[in-house]
Amino acid sequence: MGEPGLVIVGSGFAGICMAVKLKEAGYHDFVILEKAGELGGTWRDNTYPGCACDVPSHMYSYSYELNPDWSRMFAPREEIQDYLRACAAKYGITPHLRYGKDVVALEYHDGRRDWTVTTQDGEVLRTNAVVSGIGALHIPKFPEIVGRESFTGPAFHSAEWDHSADLTGKRVAVIGTGASAVQFVPRLAPDARHLTVFQRTPPWVHPKPDFAFSPAARRLLRLPGAARTLRGGIYWALESRALGFAVDPRLMKGHERLALRHLEAQVPDPVLRRALTPDYVIGCKRILISSDYYPALTRPNVSLVTDAITEIRERSIVDAAGVEHEADAIVYGTGFKVVDALTDRHITGRDGLSVQDAWKGGVEAYHGITASGFPNLFFLLGPNTGLGHNSVVFMIESQVRYVIECLRLLSRTGARALDVRPRAQRGYNDRLRARLDPLVWSAGGCRSWYLDEHGVNRTLWPGFTFEYWARTRRVKPGAYELIF
Ligand code: NAP
Repeated sequence: MGEPGLVIVGSGFAGICMAVKLKEAGYHDFVILEKAGELGGTWRDNTYPGCACDVPSHMYSYSYELNPDWSRMFAPREEIQDYLRACAAKYGITPHLRYGKDVVALEYHDGRRDWTVTTQDGEVLRTNAVVSGIGALHIPKFPEIVGRESFTGPAFHSAEWDHSADLTGKRVAVIGTGASAVQFVPRLAPDARHLTVFQRTPPWVHPKPDFAFSPAARRLLRLPGAARTLRGGIYWALESRALGFAVDPRLMKGHERLALRHLEAQVPDPVLRRALTPDYVIGCKRILISSDYYPALTRPNVSLVTDAITEIRERSIVDAAGVEHEADAIVYGTGFKVVDALTDRHITGRDGLSVQDAWKGGVEAYHGITASGFPNLFFLLGPNTGLGHNSVVFMIESQVRYVIECLRLLSRTGARALDVRPRAQRGYNDRLRARLDPLVWSAGGCRSWYLDEHGVNRTLWPGFTFEYWARTRRVKPGAYELIF
C-alpha cells in the first residue's frame, strides 16, 4: 500500500497537464495511474486510419508548451501522442507514471479524511486527493441491432481498430457518420472492393483548411512570439463561432451557407446531395470538417445507405427497405458512452454516498470540477465543460489551475479536505441549465451525445471559453465546506 499525497487517474492531455502544473506549484508527491501500458489517452487509443485532430494543432496543445514544429495545421494522431510523450519527459512526469493500473474503486474515508484508490490488479493506495483525468470519450458504444453477434467477419469499433484485419479488396460496411467516420471513410474507400456507409443522420461538414507547414514556415514559427501569435489568431477565430452557439442560433446562418456550398461543390449528384443535406440547425451536432469525405462518397465503389439498419446477418446488413448489403467486415463508427464514463464507476464519497445516488437526477458538478459529497475529488473535463467550437485543452488548463488553487486553499487554512456546498453546486447548475436549454444543442432539432437520455445537455459549456477561464480563476472559499 502506497500513500501518495495526490493521485491522478489517466495520462491523456488532462492528466499530464495536471502533473506538470502540480510540479510547477511545488507538489511532487503524486502518482498518475494509467490503465494502459502507454500514455496519451484518446490519442493512444484511436489508431484508425486518418485519425487526426479536427482542432488546429497550434491551439490543440498546451499554452505553456508551444510547438513550432507541428507538421500540419491539423496534426495526425501519432504526432500528437509524440508531443504528449515529449511533454511528459521534458517536465519530469515520467517517473510519476504507473502503467497497467486500471482504477476500479475510489472510496472516501470520513474518519481519516482521505481516499482509498483500488486498482484492478489489487493494489490499494491511500491518498489525500484524487484528480480524475479519464475523459469522456473512451467507452465504445455499439448499436443494439438484431443479429450483431452473428456476423462472422471482422467487426470492430473505430476506437479499437483491428489492424490485423486486412480490408483491402473487401466489402466493408461502415456504420455511423460522425467525427471519426469522416476521417477513416476516405482512407478505406480507395482500397475496399466496395464500401457501404450507413448514415442515420447526415452531419454538417465544413471544408478542412489543412496544409503542411513548410520547413521555412516552421523556422518562422520559431521566431520569438510567432507561434503564440498564430495560436492567438486561431483561438479568436474559433472563439467567434461561440457567438452562434452561445448567443443566438440565427448567427449560425453563415456556417450553414459555408457547409451547403461545400456540399454543392463536392457532390454533383443531386440525389446523393439531398441524402447528405441535414435537416437540423448547424451546430446542433458537432460540425465536422473534412475536404475528402464527400469526394469519397462519390466514388463508384462507395454507396451511402440512409435506410435504418434492421438486422445484421452472418455476412450482410439488412436495411429497413429490405435490401441486404453483403459485407466482409463491419467498422462501427458509432461513438462513445459518454455519461456512463462517470456514472458506471465505483466512487463513494462522504457517508458512503455513491456517484450513482449523487447523480440520479443527472451528472453535474460545480464548474464541472467538484461535486458535493466527494471532498478533494476533482474532475478534469467533467460535466458541462466540453466544447463544440474550440480546443478542450484550453478548458483543461483552466481546470488544472483551479485544482491548484483548491490545494492552496487547503494549505492556507490547514484543512484536510474541501467539499463544495450543495447550495453552490445547485445555483451553478440552475444557471447553467437556464442558459443551455434554449441553445442550439437542445433547440436545434437533433439528438446527439451532448444530451442525456432526458434530453438534458450534460456535456457542453454554454458560452465563450474565456468566460469559463475567468470564472475558474479564483476559488470562492464560501462555496466550500472546509473539513479539518
Ligand atoms: P459520434 O459523433 O457519436 O458519431 C456516431 C455516429 O454513429 C453517428 O453518425 C450516429 O448517428 C451513428 N450511429 C450510432 N448508432 C447508430 C445506429 N444504431 N445505426 C446507425 N448509425 C448509428 O462518434 P464519433 O464519430 O466517434 O465522435 C465522437 C466524438 O469524438 C466527436 O463528437 C468528437 O468530440 C470526438 N472526436 C474528435 C475528433 C477530433 O479530431 N478532434 C475525431 C473523432 C472524434 P446519429 O447522428 O444519428 O446519432
